[in-house]
Order: sequence, then C-alpha cells, then structure tokens
Amino acid sequence: MDMNDCLFCKIAADKIPSRKVYEDEIFCAFHDIKPAAPIHMLVIPRRHIATLSDCAPEDAPLLGKMILLIAQLAAQLGIAYRGGNTNDTGFRMVINTGPGGGQEVYHLHAHLLGGKRPWSRMG
Ligand code: AMP
Ligand code: ZN
Repeated sequence: MDMNDCLFCKIAADKIPSRKVYEDEIFCAFHDIKPAAPIHMLVIPRRHIATLSDCAPEDAPLLGKMILLIAQLAAQLGIAYRGGNTNDTGFRMVINTGPGGGQEVYHLHAHLLGGKRPWSRMG
C-alpha cells in the first residue's frame, strides 16, 4: 500500500478532516466516523504500520504506549475502571487484524469503545 493512499496516514497528517481528541509526535486519536458505541475513538501511530501482524519486537514500546494511551483517554472520557464501590463502567479495546479479524483500514489502529449498552456492533 502506498502511504499516500492510506486513509489514516492522511488523517494523521490533517490532509483529510477528523475529530481529533488527542495528538502527540507518535500518536493521534480521533472519533470513529461510524460509532458503534456511545464512546468510540480510534488511536493510531503516526507511522504507517498496516496491521498488528506486521509489528516486530522493536515495536513493543510503541504498542505498550498505545495501550497506555487508550487507558489515559478512557480516564479522560470518564469510562476508566477503578473498581471498588464506584459506578465505573470500564471500556473495550479492540485491534481488528486482517480479513479474519474484520480489519477494513490497513493502518494499525486500536478501537476504544465504551458507554451505555447495547452497542450497534463490536459489543
Ligand atoms: P477496522 O474494521 O478495525 O479496520 O475499523 C476501521 C474503522 O475506521 C471503522 O470503525 C470505521 O467506521 C472507521 N473509519 C473509516 N473511515 C473513517 C474516517 N474517515 N474517520 C474516522 N473513522 C473512520
Ligand atoms: Zn497509513
């Protein structure tokens, strides 16, 4: 895939519009255009990696940071899980990988889903 044709590379570079909720030099996060749940964000690395199966051992820090960023965003969005006597709902993180995983956009991304159920999909 030519990265110039990659939808999420274009979103990362602001070449096409998105509703961003977070950006730094390594990642950006934005609202899914077709939300499956009341809260549905996508977190992507700026660097083009097609799928989770393309990740190598040296990508471990990137992947670790990406998962921690999901937890950080969940906290900001009020859906972190703190346990105990709280009313916290918690959230779901999904990385669809390849046709068998239902991946539609071939730039690595993690879905962050949360909020009141039922959800329309990915629930
Ligand atoms: P996946 O099936 O894991 O590849 O998910 C791709 C996700 O990207 C789907 O949930 C789509 O709704 C979402 N999506 C597709 N195009 C856009 C876009 N332009 N902006 C935001 N989200 C998008
Ligand atoms: Zn890309």
